[in-house]
Amino acid sequence: MKKTIATFILTTLAISLFMACSSDDSTTSSDDSSTSDDTTTQDDDDDDTVTELHAAFAAFNSEATTIYLDGSNVVIETTGLPDHETVYWGEGNTLYIEEPDVAITPSIMSSNNNAVTITVDATPDLTGNTVDTELNTIGIAVSGASIFNDQEGAGDLDEAAASLDWTGAHIGPGVYHYHLEPIAFTDDDDSLAGILLDGVFLYGRQCYSTGTYPTDLDESGGHTSETQYTDGEEEYHYHIINEIYSTTGSYLAFAGPFQGY
Ligand SMILES: [Zn+2]
Ligand SMILES: [Zn+2]
Repeated sequence: MKKTIATFILTTLAISLFMACSSDDSTTSSDDSSTSDDTTTQDDDDDDTVTELHAAFAAFNSEATTIYLDGSNVVIETTGLPDHETVYWGEGNTLYIEEPDVAITPSIMSSNNNAVTITVDATPDLTGNTVDTELNTIGIAVSGASIFNDQEGAGDLDEAAASLDWTGAHIGPGVYHYHLEPIAFTDDDDSLAGILLDGVFLYGRQCYSTGTYPTDLDESGGHTSETQYTDGEEEYHYHIINEIYSTTGSYLAFAGPFQGY
């Protein structure tokens, strides 16, 4: 019995150390090329086991998120608490800022349970089938908070626009979430915005591959090209579509449909 517990502790320790090491890799992205190629199995079928987290996960807020592989899936656990300023933190928090023009919803971050766990395919199924987005969390942003679509409750996002903070987010009845381009971490650039429920990464309005706005996007804002996290390989990913949404003066984070289910 004691031996079993000791083994368990050692295993847990080993996994923790491994995860700590892999998240440290973010600062040495230029040297990752040799390791990432030979540790990720290439697609022969849908159930290939992936042995290394995608390099893009290094961009996620490590204070809020715990990200790990589970067979052919990636599990993303988050506190939902972003690493940037907003009025929604509530007075007294170090990340609280005044936003007098925001019609704040009653909940403040400190009294709200923002935690979410999502499980996504490590290798999205890009078979041409599309699936509509639904209400609630459709993805997790690099900040650790949720991404929602273009709907608010049963209605249009316009009705909730007044409560969106400087970075296109608010608290509905549930978790703090972005509806619009989250300019706290991608402001008219090619930065990673987050990962969606279908396992496809979402980037800002510009693409790393060309250094400007992509012109070959599908209806979801997706296309296949190199990104800053793919080491020269082409990979399907979404962009925040470069079209002003309604009267908000900003851009929708993602309206769907999903392409990776
Ligand atoms: Zn909302
Ligand atoms: Zn792109």
